[in-house]
Amino acid sequence: MERRAITVRGIVQGVGFRPFVHGLAARAKLTGFVQNRLDGVRIEIEGNQESLDRFLAELTESAPPLAHIDAIIWERMPLRRDDAFRILPSEGGGPEAIFLAPDAATCAECLTELLDPANRRYRYPFLNCTRCGPRLTIVTGAPYDRARTTMAAFVMCAACRAEYDDPADRRFHAQPTCCPQCGPRLRLVDATGKTIAGDPLATFAAQLRAGRIGAIKGLGGYHLACVAASNSTVAELRRRKARDDKPFALMVEDLAAAERLCEIDAVERDLLLSPRRPVVLLRRRKNGAIAEGGAPGNPYLGLMLPYTPLHHLLVRELEGRPLVMTSGNRSDEPIAYEDEDALVRLAGIADLFLMHDRRIHVRCDDSVTRRVGDAEAPVRRSRGYAPQAVALPFACPFPILAVGGQLKVTFALGRDRHAFLSHHLGDLDHLDAYRAFVRDIELYKKLFGFEPALVVHDLHPDYASTRYALEKTGIPAFGVQHHHAHLAACLAENGLREPVLGVTFDGTGFGTDETIWGGEFLLGDYRSFRRVAHLRAVGMPGGEPAIREPWRMALAHARDADVVPAGLAERLPQDSLRVVEAMIDRSFRCPRTSSAGRLFDAVASLAGVRDRVRFEGQAAIELEWAAASMATDGSYPIAIESVAGEDGEMLVVDTRPLVREVVNDVQRRVATAKIARRFHSTLVEMIAEVCGRLRRVTGVDAVALSGGVFLNVLLIRETEERLRREGFRVYRHRQVPPNDGGLSLGQLALAAHR
Ligand code: ZN
Ligand code: ZN
Ligand code: FE
Repeated sequence: MERRAITVRGIVQGVGFRPFVHGLAARAKLTGFVQNRLDGVRIEIEGNQESLDRFLAELTESAPPLAHIDAIIWERMPLRRDDAFRILPSEGGGPEAIFLAPDAATCAECLTELLDPANRRYRYPFLNCTRCGPRLTIVTGAPYDRARTTMAAFVMCAACRAEYDDPADRRFHAQPTCCPQCGPRLRLVDATGKTIAGDPLATFAAQLRAGRIGAIKGLGGYHLACVAASNSTVAELRRRKARDDKPFALMVEDLAAAERLCEIDAVERDLLLSPRRPVVLLRRRKNGAIAEGGAPGNPYLGLMLPYTPLHHLLVRELEGRPLVMTSGNRSDEPIAYEDEDALVRLAGIADLFLMHDRRIHVRCDDSVTRRVGDAEAPVRRSRGYAPQAVALPFACPFPILAVGGQLKVTFALGRDRHAFLSHHLGDLDHLDAYRAFVRDIELYKKLFGFEPALVVHDLHPDYASTRYALEKTGIPAFGVQHHHAHLAACLAENGLREPVLGVTFDGTGFGTDETIWGGEFLLGDYRSFRRVAHLRAVGMPGGEPAIREPWRMALAHARDADVVPAGLAERLPQDSLRVVEAMIDRSFRCPRTSSAGRLFDAVASLAGVRDRVRFEGQAAIELEWAAASMATDGSYPIAIESVAGEDGEMLVVDTRPLVREVVNDVQRRVATAKIARRFHSTLVEMIAEVCGRLRRVTGVDAVALSGGVFLNVLLIRETEERLRREGFRVYRHRQVPPNDGGLSLGQLALAAHR
């Protein structure tokens, strides 16, 4: 006989861990106790050595789905000879969840109950348990218990209370637990807010089947829903959403339904089925019965499976029809998540609203992800992922707050070896998004129980996050260079500490030399960096407007290369062209940029793919789609020059030969897809060539690929392959997006090494 004291750390509180431990111990007839403490879960357990070893093994192997064990530490201690195994009250009434779990999709047990006519929660759209249901989206404060969630308004009935209090029950301390007697209810209202009589769900579904557009309240916000096969309904939704060209995400009943629309391999299947339930970007099948207006010209479809009981019931009512489930917003505003606000902001878009009285406190967009190679490559990390920590390969010497950039903002709180990354807050230009950013930073501080001693921000003086860091936090602030933060994010999530060559390609980032960077090769680690190579800088006519109008970049690159772009003059108004030409020639309002994103824009416009965009990166994305349909077919020339920089030699990639050949190909009427393909191959060759030269000089053979341009699957896959063939070790993002959504992680890493 022996007794062991075990401490388990990680996400082990508020996820059904204690009932699980209780069950394990009871089955093996072991005695002792389990208790939530401030530093994790404490277990003391007594029995013979063999069964204790088995207990420890099962603790990790069969832990509840939402648990995430970071460490198990144990030691022997004197025997106590208890008579049973008990769940003790939390120490000092301490926090129930030091590491709050993310929202999780309805678990298998709950789904069975939902569809079982004999169960008291049959067809109840809000059932959940410790293994599933809302978490972050309903939390209003800390510690995590029912009083500090939006479920506080509902008093548990006797039956729910009994389950909640029973250590052996799946709903033991399930904070949001409820039932038809005591929990939230559905309500269906029309566009004026008037209640529609009848069964809300059945009526809503019937209206969707009849071609109406509905708004439906989900975990983190409202979705706009309609039948995805109907060309006219989808076109109407597109029209009502105004200026929104983004592809619509779809919800399908199950994996089989997803496989009818898209090609799905093992990694993608796991992503679809995971309790995080992200939107997964999948290669669409030709015969997919989806309206073309849902994702026009897009070789991918964004699919997700139902993740709330309400979704499960809805897809059943729709008898297998795939649904458009796009974010409930107009254009690029933040999504609506409060009922009154949804009625106002989605008026004119939704014909009817399926609402309920469980309030959403934290707005949380759907996460978007995909597979690249054999691993996940996140596009947006939000619902289902946040606020789960990313493990750091170093310890933060003090608590740090990192505030991100301006677009696709996430913030991060760093403590010890954990970075708690926030949900997606979007574009801080929107006052509503900025307010949520300020409020949710305070919420996370409470949730994780600490006050940051340092705030780290981007060097850009006009980012709302920078101003917040400098003016609103009252703690020491530290500014870091944008692309250095991208590089550090990639290092941190890959557990690296050594200096690497960081290929950081994105749209725009504030440089250290008064120009706008975005096509950078940095040699660096967490402490410092040196800009060792970059794309040739050209003017960005008018500044910001050049981002929305790729034709301006086409003209800038063409004039830089001293060629006349074919076709532009026919497609664009003469006076606009003349104004921009004059700006370029006089360097008037033409900030210099080395941006790779803007080079993509220029080539997309030169090739006739797109002259104006409706969302960031649209032209580049469409150029990728064009290229993806082609086999490799040569590449364009590039020139690399060596110049004397401030701290040593620097390579500059001359883009002019490339631009001249693109213009030539357009004049010779070479197919657009072929031009797009050659352009991608050119970038791959260029990156390999520059990295090769830098390795000869520096001896560094590790390359980190980061920045929003590396959302491009074709580019990341081929660059990775090519560099590996050249003998490089290549690192890319698998946990956070390569774009500015991952910036806060990198900022945190830099601040921890200040
Ligand atoms: Zn459940
Ligand atoms: Zn109840
Ligand atoms: Fe960036």
